[in-house]
Amino acid sequence: MNVFEYQAKQAFRDNGIATPKGVLIRSVEELDTVIGEVGLPCVLKSQVLRGGRGKAGLIKLVKTKEEAKDTAQKLFSCEHNVKMILAEQAVAMVKEVYLAVTFNPVTAKAMFIACAEGGVEIEILAKNSPEKLVKVEVDITEGLGAYHINNLLFGLGISGDLGKKFGALARNLYKTFRACDASLAEINPVFITKDEEVIAGDGKLIIDDNSVSRQPNYQLSRDYFDSDVEYEAAMEGIPYLQFTGDIALMCAGAGLTTTVFDIIHDFGGTVATYTEFGGANYTKAVRTMELCLKTPSKVILVVTFGTIARADVMAQGLAEAIKTHKPSMPIVTCIRGTNEEEAFKILREIGLEPLTNTEEAVQRAVDIAAGRK
Ligand code: GDP
Ligand code: MN
Repeated sequence: MNVFEYQAKQAFRDNGIATPKGVLIRSVEELDTVIGEVGLPCVLKSQVLRGGRGKAGLIKLVKTKEEAKDTAQKLFSCEHNVKMILAEQAVAMVKEVYLAVTFNPVTAKAMFIACAEGGVEIEILAKNSPEKLVKVEVDITEGLGAYHINNLLFGLGISGDLGKKFGALARNLYKTFRACDASLAEINPVFITKDEEVIAGDGKLIIDDNSVSRQPNYQLSRDYFDSDVEYEAAMEGIPYLQFTGDIALMCAGAGLTTTVFDIIHDFGGTVATYTEFGGANYTKAVRTMELCLKTPSKVILVVTFGTIARADVMAQGLAEAIKTHKPSMPIVTCIRGTNEEEAFKILREIGLEPLTNTEEAVQRAVDIAAGRK
């Protein structure tokens, strides 16, 4: 679970890391009082779950209250679906450093990744000059030792008073990483000020999905979704995404669904919704189709391959869904796997042609969407 910057920064503060003074707003009007709290100039930081906000124009420095309100208005109405802005005191910094803790899946250890040249160009730097990245691994059963921090500081070329402060920051970031059951705790940039203060200028925190149940601070809410329907689906455990294309996709299994998504694009089609109704519980087909129908589409494409979840059970679910919702658009099916003969029979009984070749089924749906069939 990827959480918002304002939440990451709260976790940082809870673990002793300094952050700029900031207040979260959900409307422009709040700036009237909030500007007084954070002061000017301040930085308006769109709270969206994507990286590269700076480059996308979603992070803005403003100098007056009027400019702040005008800029916030623009951010709230831009195409990136900004619902929250973190208004933060601007920090006068002299240097930006990259610091993160993550897991190295190969060694099964926690790993610091750091770079003396942090900021918005870090991905390019990591690609072109990987030798500039400092990596220090920590066995989590042994825990963090002074030598880990010393190695990190040595690699970064930071010493003296600043070294002490940066070392404390690294220790606190490791503490955050462990306390939050994170798979990534990242600060990019760490601001270094002229007085050698170290401040978390940004925050990225990913909570291991398997630990969300014991992390009460991080529960799914409407904030994490672009639409009501996606939120509704997630609360019911149905993987569901909305797009703006023509083909409503009802599939089973993330890998198969992703492949079908790719084939659709390969064949020149576009996807309206992406949804999975897998699992033994075929009643989800009824609910899934209901969600699917909330987004306009020209055709419904059903592709599944049932192994543990039987093909005939899926076909039965689909038949049930069609009976319940009576969709007006054509339906293309390619339902295969365990007990598929029975599945084909069920599909024929409700007037559907059971295709057995995925590419043929996708081509059929793409043709229908384009008005060729
Ligand atoms: P990201 O692009 O999504 O990673 O968003 P960041 O929060 O990292 O902001 C992007 C960039 O904006 C940072 O790398 C900084 O260079 C700059 N920035 C953000 N806040 C401040 C600030 O308070 N002071 C200064 N000088 N620069 C800032
Ligand atoms: Mn950043």
